[in-house]
This record gives sequence, structure tokens and C-alpha cells, in this order.
Amino acid sequence: MTKTILVTGGAGFIGSHLCEKLVNRGDTVICLDNLITGSQKNIAHLLGRKTFFFFNHDVVKPFKSNKFRKIDEIYHLASPADPNKNSSFSYLNHPFETMQVNTIGTWNMCELALKHKAKLSFASTSEVYGDPQVSPQSEGYRGNVSPTGPRSVYDEAKRFGETIVSTFVREKGLNAIITRIFNTYGPRMNIAEGRAVVNFIKQALSNKPITIYGNGKQTRSFCYVDDQVEGQILAMRKGGPGEIFNIGNDDERTILEFAKLIKRLTNSKSKIVFQDLPIDDPHQRRPDISKAKKNLNWEPKISLEEGLKVTIKYFKDYL
Ligand code: NAD
Ligand code: UDP
Repeated sequence: MTKTILVTGGAGFIGSHLCEKLVNRGDTVICLDNLITGSQKNIAHLLGRKTFFFFNHDVVKPFKSNKFRKIDEIYHLASPADPNKNSSFSYLNHPFETMQVNTIGTWNMCELALKHKAKLSFASTSEVYGDPQVSPQSEGYRGNVSPTGPRSVYDEAKRFGETIVSTFVREKGLNAIITRIFNTYGPRMNIAEGRAVVNFIKQALSNKPITIYGNGKQTRSFCYVDDQVEGQILAMRKGGPGEIFNIGNDDERTILEFAKLIKRLTNSKSKIVFQDLPIDDPHQRRPDISKAKKNLNWEPKISLEEGLKVTIKYFKDYL
């Protein structure tokens, strides 16, 4: 049976892929986005579809529309996500908006889900683990987060977002799950932002220096967007009330290794240069995805090299 599904942040990178997948499988999709870091370009190919509805709406304000009598599912993905200060799309340059969308926005989505008896999925983040002291990070790990550092506007807002969702589940019987998304990449990442994938590919393609922050020994584990979206959909379908799932790829690399891989895949002449490590930049990050594997029968299928080749082609065509 087809569903009516609301996606906040649907004009963003991950959200636009999710909207596309849901529309293509026959669902009606309501996309709410205020375009603070997203773009209508990401959903241009969906705007003509009869089952896709876009509203330029800030989810910090309640969403009221009589057009849709019943919403079955809500994916709440709205939030800036780029930690790099040099980018105007960074949550560090939108601290208040970031705190609000993940707290007030999340509260609004919980209320809306209750009203429609819809199932809610809240897009949280590996950043709730902060600079983790254990690796890999499983859902039971409580994290090592600074409550007052620059990244706290994102990390702590996501953590409180999780508190809001869990409390609505416990106290009001809301049917909701939480997904903790680990570094995800692919086509439609915002070319003007400063995350490692975007910076390195842009720098490599233009033969400009590839900027490594710190000594490059910090690690990340990168997940291709199609795998991420598949995980999101399965978590929504199979996750029980209050359940939390890490969704990411556990193929852990050092950032230096990652930069060298992009250099090789782009045949770039770029030099690798080292710059200061930002405050509170996590030293290691690798998801324990055994719960998602077991309960959702999900695991990432696309290798880093394969995913990067598609992403590099996207940026080449774009630049
Ligand atoms: P993105 O910036 O491309 O997408 C976020 C979208 O949310 C944008 O289109 C933006 O305009 C919209 N938005 C922000 N505030 C809003 C508001 N108040 N009202 C309506 N729309 C609003 O980022 P993304 O990488 O696609 O991230 C999507 C979600 O996944 C975010 O919640 C992010 O925290 C989470 N996440 C992403 C990653 C990753 O690696 N990409 C990692 C961890 C968590
Ligand atoms: N990074 C880097 N050079 C860049 C951008 C990022 O060395 O030009 C590093 C960053 O310091 C971090 C890692 O790459 O250690 C991943 O950063 P990203 O911004 O992609 O997201 P994060 O995983 O920190 O949320």
C-alpha cells in the first residue's frame, strides 16, 4: 500500500535522495525545507511529479496544511550538518538555527506525528558520541561530548533531540525511532561546503593543495548515500518504538589515507598540506553496525572506491 510521507530537510543532500527513492516506489512525499543549506536544484527532477509536494517551510514553526488528511511516516532530517568554519553552510555559522531545528523542530515533528498517528524517524548523528573513547561506537556508548565547545550547538542539540523523541515515546506513546548517521557522501553534497569529501575532491580536481587538518591520523568511516538511504528506509520499516540504530559504513580510514585515495582516483597533481586541527575534532569514528545488520538485515554494499568514483564524476560534471 502506498503511503504519505513527510521528509524535513528533503532538499538537502541525504533528504533529496530519500525523497527520490520514496517517490519512485510510489509514495506521496511532502518535502519541507527552508533551504538554509539545501537547494531546490537537488529536487528539481521531482518538482513536476504529481506525488511530490515541496514547501519552503522552517520546521521550527509548526507545519499546518489541510491538504494532507493523513501522514503515515515522518523522516526528520532538517539540520545544517557541516562542521567546517570556513563554509557559510556550516552549523558553526548557523549556531542558533542548528540548536532550534534539532530541538524545537524535533518537538514540532513529534507533535505532528502524534496528531497523525504517524511513525517518526529522527536523523541523529555519530556526533552524539563526540570524541569517542571507545571504538567502534555501539548504540549503547554514551559518548564524550563537550557541552559548551563550538561543536556543541550541533552535538548537544542532536543529543537533546534524542531526549525529546525518547520522551515522546515513553510518555505519549509516540511510535518513533532514532538513526545515528555516520559520515555519508555522494552526489548532491553541497559543492560550497567544507566537509572533507567535498574539499578534497574540489581541491584534487583543480590541482590545488589538499588541506589536511591536524596530522591526518584521525579516522572516519564513509558511507555511500544509496546505502544510507536504504538503511533509513529499513530502520523506519522495522525499528520498534524508541529504538536507535547506527547507520554508516564501518570501513575505517585515516584522513590522510582518504586524501591520498581521492588524489589517486582523480589523477591529481595536488600537494598535500597540513593545517590546524579544529577544536574538538574527533580522533576516531567507526560505527558498530551489528544491530542494524541483525535487526534490519542491512549492511552497506558500495565500496569506498566505487562510491567515490561516482561522486568524483558528479563534481567533475558540476564544476
Ligand atoms: P544538508 O545540509 O544537505 O541537508 C539538510 C537540509 O535541512 C537542508 O536542505 C536544509 O536547508 C534543511 N534545513 C535545515 N534547517 C531547516 C529548518 N529549520 N527547516 C527546514 N529545513 C531545514 O545535510 P545532510 O548531509 O543531507 O544531512 C541531513 C541530516 O543528516 C541532518 O540532520 C544531519 O545532521 C544528519 N547527518 C548527516 C551526516 C552526513 O554525513 N551527511 C552525518 C550525520 C548526520
Ligand atoms: N578535514 C580535513 N580537511 C578538510 C576538511 C576536513 O582534514 O579540508 C578533516 C576534519 O578535520 C575531520 C575529518 O576531515 O577530522 C572529517 O571532517 P568532515 O568535515 O567531513 O566531518 P566530521 O566527520 O568532522 O563531522
